[in-house]
Amino acid sequence: MKQYLIIGNSAAGISAVEAIRAKDKTSKITIISDEDYPSYCRCLISYYLAGDIKEEKILLRPDAFYKENNIELILNKRVDRVNPKKNQVVCVDKTLINYDTLLIATGARPKFPEIKGIKKTGVFGFRTIQDAKKISEQVNLIKSACVLGGGLVGLKAAYGLKKRKVDVKVIVKSKQILSQMLDAQAASMVQKRLEENGIDVILGRDITEVIGEGEMKAVKLDSGKALECSLLVVGKGVQPNMELVKETEIKVGEGIITGKDLKTNVENIFSAGDVCENYDLTLGKPSINALWPVAVEQGKAAGSNMAGENIIYDGSLGMNSIEFFGLPVISLGIYKVDEASKDYEVIKVIDDKANLYKKIVLHNNNLVGAVFAGDIRNSGVFLKLIKERVDVTPFKDKLLEENFGFPGIIDFLKDKERIYV
Ligand SMILES: Cc1cc2nc3c(=O)[nH]c(=O)nc-3n(C[C@H](O)[C@H](O)[C@H](O)COP(=O)(O)OP(=O)(O)OC[C@H]3O[C@@H](n4cnc5c(N)ncnc54)[C@H](O)[C@@H]3O)c2cc1C
Repeated sequence: MKQYLIIGNSAAGISAVEAIRAKDKTSKITIISDEDYPSYCRCLISYYLAGDIKEEKILLRPDAFYKENNIELILNKRVDRVNPKKNQVVCVDKTLINYDTLLIATGARPKFPEIKGIKKTGVFGFRTIQDAKKISEQVNLIKSACVLGGGLVGLKAAYGLKKRKVDVKVIVKSKQILSQMLDAQAASMVQKRLEENGIDVILGRDITEVIGEGEMKAVKLDSGKALECSLLVVGKGVQPNMELVKETEIKVGEGIITGKDLKTNVENIFSAGDVCENYDLTLGKPSINALWPVAVEQGKAAGSNMAGENIIYDGSLGMNSIEFFGLPVISLGIYKVDEASKDYEVIKVIDDKANLYKKIVLHNNNLVGAVFAGDIRNSGVFLKLIKERVDVTPFKDKLLEENFGFPGIIDFLKDKERIYV
């Protein structure tokens, strides 16, 4: 009987075991996680912190899932290193676990910049349910908090804190929030909405020191100004958890390098999710798209292939959407381009009164990216056009019309079965 071993019990790991079980009902599957919690939706921890959803709602699968699928779940155990020569992993507690086929779905962890005092009590990352719980324990004891970083995770943390009646200031080094996700116009609309709802945003500033004796009491900005606060959430991006393959022949770049089959360069070792570097459809080169739906898709493809299928994963597309205080925004593909450049054509509609913004980016009459704010309902249509590289010339003028939708493009699609509605 074959032994599958999955390291990581989250989006990629769970999707992989489901794909394995769809094909192979009997082999042994073991999942190891260093978290002490059953699988949950990481994207929802800010809503748990905010009090918008109860703890049980963030669970990814019911408790019975592992038993019903005959999966051995080992929680609270960390894999120290993979030994491909022996088909074995070595855990931090020195236990050895053998495998025939291995999936590395270890995700990523928050990056902590080297700032004086960053290790003081009161400084948190925001990645796990335990982070959210620890922050949650503090919110009734404190008045004000700062968030370092204006990306998705930082702003979600700020939202959660604000909803728990903590005064929040978000400190952002760049000139706009969500600089990895939105263009300046859409970002300014989100910023305005955050500020209208009591979240202060300080652009163009960094933290140089966390001040306090043991426990933090304030942060010092690079302007010299100090901001009093008892809690700091660091949201400065993530780094892949790939130390476990250090000193092995498994190839790494930004992440663990995988091919179209999600396999590494070692025959029986696969990788998926935030730790995995794979082809990016819009960049046209390998990269990491650290997104939940990407981890799910990659996990599914990896799991199927681990069980003997021959699934080709063409690559992922940078795509992100979020809603803050009733303002939805989404970006797809390449959306930040030099608008004066002859290489790209940019078409946009801005309606300040209606709080609406739509921008699409074309390259050689193919749609390559889009940003929408205020109304994102038709995004699936644009995603399909980008993915299929459809020549939009016949309906270019209609693309940003209010009622433009799938009926307008259906005749131009190759894959009509899988339209997103
Ligand atoms: C607050 C927050 C909000 C987010 N919001 C969104 C969103 O709105 N949309 C979106 O697309 N994405 C969002 N994301 C990103 C999304 O959660 C990730 O892309 C996704 O969780 C990646 O899944 P994964 O399975 O690759 O890895 P992870 O979810 O990171 O899981 C990996 C697991 O492996 C464990 N592990 C790591 N190393 C070891 C080891 N050596 N031994 C044992 N176990 C190990 C980790 O502890 C973890 O449990 C958000 C993330 C956060 C933190």
